[in-house]
Amino acid sequence: MNLPTIVHHRTVPAPNRDAVRRVLEQVEARGSITREEAYLLIHARGTALVQVMALAAAWRDRGHGRVVSYSRNVFIPLTNLCRDKCAYCTFAKPPGHPEARYLTPDQVLAIARHGAAHGCREALFSLGDRPEALHRAAREWLRRLGYPSTVAYLEAMARRVLEETGLLPHLNPGVLTYEEMARLRGVAASMGLMLENVSPRLMEPGQAHHGCPDKDPRVRLRMMEDAGRLRIPFTTGILIGIGETPEERVDSLFAIADLHARYGHIQEVIVQNFRAKPDIRFRDRPEPSLWDMLATLAVARLVLGPEMNLQAPPNLAPDAYGVYLLAGANDWGGVSPVTVDHINPEAPWPKLEELRRVTEEAGFVLQERLAVYPRYLTGEWLDPRVWPYVQSHLLEMGSGE
Ligand code: SF4
Repeated sequence: MNLPTIVHHRTVPAPNRDAVRRVLEQVEARGSITREEAYLLIHARGTALVQVMALAAAWRDRGHGRVVSYSRNVFIPLTNLCRDKCAYCTFAKPPGHPEARYLTPDQVLAIARHGAAHGCREALFSLGDRPEALHRAAREWLRRLGYPSTVAYLEAMARRVLEETGLLPHLNPGVLTYEEMARLRGVAASMGLMLENVSPRLMEPGQAHHGCPDKDPRVRLRMMEDAGRLRIPFTTGILIGIGETPEERVDSLFAIADLHARYGHIQEVIVQNFRAKPDIRFRDRPEPSLWDMLATLAVARLVLGPEMNLQAPPNLAPDAYGVYLLAGANDWGGVSPVTVDHINPEAPWPKLEELRRVTEEAGFVLQERLAVYPRYLTGEWLDPRVWPYVQSHLLEMGSGE
């Protein structure tokens, strides 16, 4: 398999304003950025960073105008058991923990119906990675539920949600095989897997992904490539502040850009900031600063180009997220009027009225979108079994309901 080159980390001194200006002129004239240029720009701070953000924002305007999108979703945490042990995770619970569980079919349908009644259109299935491979309790749960695997249970629940509520499933179940994705394509509008970071260094002892077989970047790039071969509209992204260097963030963005250049299937890229929490292994790690987020977002826009949908989660910077729009972002992701962010339960979603106000204060228009982005609304990208449900939402949105 022809995977992108993995470049190890190295450091570059913070550039001065003139050096940044010269690089930005070349990037703008060429309409693209080299890896070396991105390594330099991601270190920009102060007024040099403002220059980088200005070009990133101009490219965003070129691709998306002044429209910022979001999806009204419900979050369905099908299981919080997981075979991995990420150092920053508060979602996964070990067997025996009072909150460890699989949702029952009734619970899944109740969440979905509640969301549908409140105008949601997306059912975000987020769950631990293949828990039955490690935990006997997970195998027991699945046996009682009557399914051979978590992925088989996911397929059945996504189908029921789609057919019984009309919500469009977006599936986030961790690493999948080609065959599993081929099956799930028939019950989902889109799927996702955060690349997080392309550096295998983060798998080493003491690092964020030690003890996490599913966080091997080669495994994740393989799944992302399979999604491209299967014509699945796919969401991915990077997680910043988990021990990676700025250069490794750039390498990760180039890996995503490379896959998208070959398959055209990356519908959005998330830049997510690590948040420290008291009950995680990385509880004492410093969080990335707002400057880190702005520099990473701006460089992401320049690496991924004007057309890419670039998302940053508003609930992980509740006092500052509006400024992400000045660094090239054009999407707020899934925003739920009814369920909490189970990955970051301490961070409530901004209410939609607040999201609209912040977006408009920054000079933009907030617009609802589906779990699948407009350019993927074709028979090439959507399974015929999913298409009628998508069309029904489009009709409603077109009629202003
Ligand atoms: S971040 Fe995801 S893969 Fe890692 S432990 Fe948590 S649920 Fe599992």
